[in-house]
Amino acid sequence: MSLASQSIKSLREQLAARTISPSEIVEDLHSTVERLNPQIGAFLSLDIAAAKTEAEQSDVTKALGGIPVAIKDNINVTGQPCTCASKILAENYIAPYDATAIKRLRDGGAVPFGRLNMDEFAMGSSTENSALGVTRNPWDLERIPGGSSGGSAAAVASGMALAALGSDTGGSIRQPAALCGCVGIKPTYGRVSRFGLVAFASSLDQIGTFTRTVEDGALVLNQICGHDTNDSTSLGVSVPDFSAGLKSGVKGMRIGLPKEYFIDGTHPAVTAAVDAAVKHYQSLGAEIVEISLPHTDAGVATYYILAPAEASANLARFDGVRYGHRTPQAADVLDHYMSSRSEGFGPEVKRRILLGTYVLSSGYYDAYYLKAQKARTLIRQDFERAFAEVDVILSPTAPSPAHKLGSMRDNPIQMYLEDIFTIAANLAGLPAMSLPCGFAEENGKKLPVGMQLIARPLDEGTMLRAAYAYESTTDWHLQRPPLFA
Ligand code: GLN
Repeated sequence: MSLASQSIKSLREQLAARTISPSEIVEDLHSTVERLNPQIGAFLSLDIAAAKTEAEQSDVTKALGGIPVAIKDNINVTGQPCTCASKILAENYIAPYDATAIKRLRDGGAVPFGRLNMDEFAMGSSTENSALGVTRNPWDLERIPGGSSGGSAAAVASGMALAALGSDTGGSIRQPAALCGCVGIKPTYGRVSRFGLVAFASSLDQIGTFTRTVEDGALVLNQICGHDTNDSTSLGVSVPDFSAGLKSGVKGMRIGLPKEYFIDGTHPAVTAAVDAAVKHYQSLGAEIVEISLPHTDAGVATYYILAPAEASANLARFDGVRYGHRTPQAADVLDHYMSSRSEGFGPEVKRRILLGTYVLSSGYYDAYYLKAQKARTLIRQDFERAFAEVDVILSPTAPSPAHKLGSMRDNPIQMYLEDIFTIAANLAGLPAMSLPCGFAEENGKKLPVGMQLIARPLDEGTMLRAAYAYESTTDWHLQRPPLFA
């Protein structure tokens, strides 16, 4: 079995026994990237010399010593590009510092390994909004990998990476994890420092992990969590050892099924897989409770007011003066700003900036932005009430399996509905994850289906315990796309 195809847990044991070396892992991953990336397009760049040097110097006695971790292209790593898959940053921006999550990975001995494709500035659900190329789903190369962290999901699912970091503002870790058949974890808002993550919507953004197993996810997540004085929203609370509690099972655990998340219009294969998972949990001794999250129907509208509003402010810094693309000739200073931004941003980013500016403008602020803030509070309160009754909430991650590349590109509203099950956790700041729970079949091709688990604030431990109980008694997570070796 190639090293690249193994779990982090197993590689750590071999590294500790010195039967393999960190450079061998890097070389193995590199040859997998050379073989598969031309077809899949997950990596935008890979500085293999830097990765090798770091691997040789890494301390294998540390928690992630010698383990390469691939990085979404909106998280700064010193000396590497950080394009956000946008023309505005692709020309000449090189990160001058490490994001805190990267610094923590390095402190744990991990090796940053390559830059992963995404929707431009993390706006999208298919990675088709990247200005720098197409990423394909490893299970069916005609289909999207999901988004916005599509490169992260495709790299991990295809064996080009053991683990990857992504960011999740409205589902961008969980939805691509579901569509590519891997484990994607979005921690509680404030668990992981956002310092060095290029901001999309600051009150919603969180960095999180992609892995092929829950155990590996717990390992990587542990490494990146913790308070950071560089991010005033990062929480000054201790971080439990997520791996320690994984195996305690779900006997007596109360699992809530929100009736608003089991709706018509969900793909039948998704409904069937999630229903079977619920039965499986019952057989493991969990108690299933029907719950209601009555403001669910306001979620998508609330998110698509608040996220663009914050984005319009955050993206003001890309003005052709300080960062990235600068128009070659401008008549005056106003023309300089307008032309640099018009040339540098893609259509979805422009749409969000326009939407965001509109909902914040005088006369519309109360009707849209303020109202959305109130709806956000109601959505958070729905969860507070639900978590008085249950320990975790279970739902589908996405309403359907991966669709064909190009098939939704001209329909932004339908694309926004992809997020229907994932955005509430961001609006409420809750930890949430996706894990494999079955397959749909289309034209003889297997397409992964994921289920979502949501937990109380800072209760990643219970969420991961529920996920592990399922994973360790099923084999969905062991299935690999045909090109995996
Ligand atoms: N798909 C959502 C959007 O387009 C979420 C993106 C994200 O989580 N970064 O905004």
